[in-house]
Amino acid sequence: MKDCNQCGKCCIKYGGGDLAATQDEIDLWEIFNPEIFDYVKNNQIWFDPKSGLPLERCPFLEIAPKKTPLAPNLYTCSIYQDRPEDCRHYPSLIAEMIRDECEMIEVIDIEHQKQAQVKLDILMQDSRPACCS
Ligand code: SF4
Ligand code: SF4
Repeated sequence: MKDCNQCGKCCIKYGGGDLAATQDEIDLWEIFNPEIFDYVKNNQIWFDPKSGLPLERCPFLEIAPKKTPLAPNLYTCSIYQDRPEDCRHYPSLIAEMIRDECEMIEVIDIEHQKQAQVKLDILMQDSRPACCS
């Protein structure tokens, strides 16, 4: 299992309509992060604050400045500390990582998925909410 290399596949795949936020998260954004709350509509994320239409891509996904012109894109989350719980959970299952072509996965993880899941759970224990680690 490699470290996340910020390939952005997960945010690109799920950030535009497949994410949900809890009522608690939405309430906290409304009070403390109005710049995030602007993209909430009817308790759903993410919507264009001007048009009210659903966004195809997460508005908080950014590309880090490249060190060299040919370097691959490195994606960052501009609301990392306040990102939805859904985002904190990813990646949660080896099968999901294989399906999504997550670049943390190595051949040995595919061959030994149970052991890989144990490694992943240890790796993610600080990211996942206490209820779910
Ligand atoms: S909120 Fe952050 S972690 Fe979640 S999809 Fe958007 S960029 Fe990715
Ligand atoms: S798909 Fe995997 S390697 Fe790529 S950004 Fe998401 S967690 Fe990181």
